[in-house]
Amino acid sequence: MSQAPTDYRPMWESLGLDLPAHDALLAALPVLYGNAYQNQTNRPEGMSYFDFVMSEIHGLRVKELMDHKAAGGTVIGTFCLYVPEEIIRALGGQCVGLCAGAEWAYDKVERILPQNTCALIKSFMGFKLGKVCPYAEACDLVIGETTCDGKKKAYELLNDLAPLHVMELPQMKQRHDRILWRSEIERLVARLEDVSGRRLTAENLAAAIKEVNDKRRALQRLNATRKASPAPISGKDALLAVQVAFYDDVPRFTAMVNQIAGELEARVAVGERVAPADAPRLLVTGTPMSIPNWKTYDLIEKAGAVVVAEEMCTGSRYYSTLVDEAPTDLPGMIDALRDKYLDINCACFTPNPGRMDDVIRLAEEYKVDGIVQYNLQFCTPYQIEATAVERAAQAAGIPTLRIDTDYSMGDVGQLSTRVEAFLEMIER
Ligand code: SF4
Ligand code: SF4
Repeated sequence: MSQAPTDYRPMWESLGLDLPAHDALLAALPVLYGNAYQNQTNRPEGMSYFDFVMSEIHGLRVKELMDHKAAGGTVIGTFCLYVPEEIIRALGGQCVGLCAGAEWAYDKVERILPQNTCALIKSFMGFKLGKVCPYAEACDLVIGETTCDGKKKAYELLNDLAPLHVMELPQMKQRHDRILWRSEIERLVARLEDVSGRRLTAENLAAAIKEVNDKRRALQRLNATRKASPAPISGKDALLAVQVAFYDDVPRFTAMVNQIAGELEARVAVGERVAPADAPRLLVTGTPMSIPNWKTYDLIEKAGAVVVAEEMCTGSRYYSTLVDEAPTDLPGMIDALRDKYLDINCACFTPNPGRMDDVIRLAEEYKVDGIVQYNLQFCTPYQIEATAVERAAQAAGIPTLRIDTDYSMGDVGQLSTRVEAFLEMIER
């Protein structure tokens, strides 16, 4: 006898969601997911976990977070890789990424933000103003950061809608920047201690560092299998794993990703593949892609290529480096957090040669035939840095395609034509 589905409406209502609008959002999601994901052939069996996670995206995981709060824990929202999840977890918090990947309530958003704001900012503001995101409504604190101008000014408006703490991220990586960033981590610790009513100790921080490192190690293991030719997993599925990493339960996620990595290692051993052996191999670099932003990967892979690597925040920038686990005292651990996070190469830094090195190193390690630069329109840091990426790729002899887009589907036809022409050029 099949079990009746859980009724989450009382929970959504208690969070203050706009239920009719939320119903409309939840009705759209399975269609988007089905179109992008469920017509793939020879998917790894382990991806059924992510099908389940997606089917419960506003259900089971939100219930877990509410149970966690009821047991005395906190839920903390973030928008950026620079916010250390380890400190949130050490202080009894569950970290949830609040970046959104769909156009929502833009009519409300454009009353307070310029129309020519990047889609990522408009989207998270739209989800908040439209009251359709249970994760945003469950948060005890939301942590912003001074990365790009659009985000930091939008946070001033978000401050009226949610309890907010903004970290000042330096924009260079010199000695005084490292001092500033360390003091910002300490300021975050004080705020989170206040919100959680707990104290940061060497013991709880060491445990959190190990747990989050394990999550990153699992993603490293999964993504290492994509170096194989033919690729054992589609780019779309690998992207989904990183997207889910931002809000799933950490130990469960780590176990599931390790299980999929084991399956992929076995596939590599026998040459099992998800795309034709001669499918062009691509690297995608640029701005992050949050759920349900699968547009670009979908059209690339439907055009016959396979994405085997990404230099993005929903990609290698998230998992490629770990926090040093050697320090045993609190000051040493905070130093290790400072170093790990400041070593991320986001385009909001100047100059940012480390990102070019990462793109070319990944392109070579993953033996790609071409690089796709995916950047959101009106994202000044990444759109301007696209020239430096193009020059680095040219110097390395790797063809590039530049895609500047947003979350709408209006340009899919035109982008597909450009991607197909790029793939033809590569194949020639
Ligand atoms: S692209 Fe930069 S600002 Fe955006 S999430 Fe990544 S690190 Fe943060
Ligand atoms: S995509 Fe660009 S403009 Fe948009 S939030 Fe990220 S860094 Fe800022």
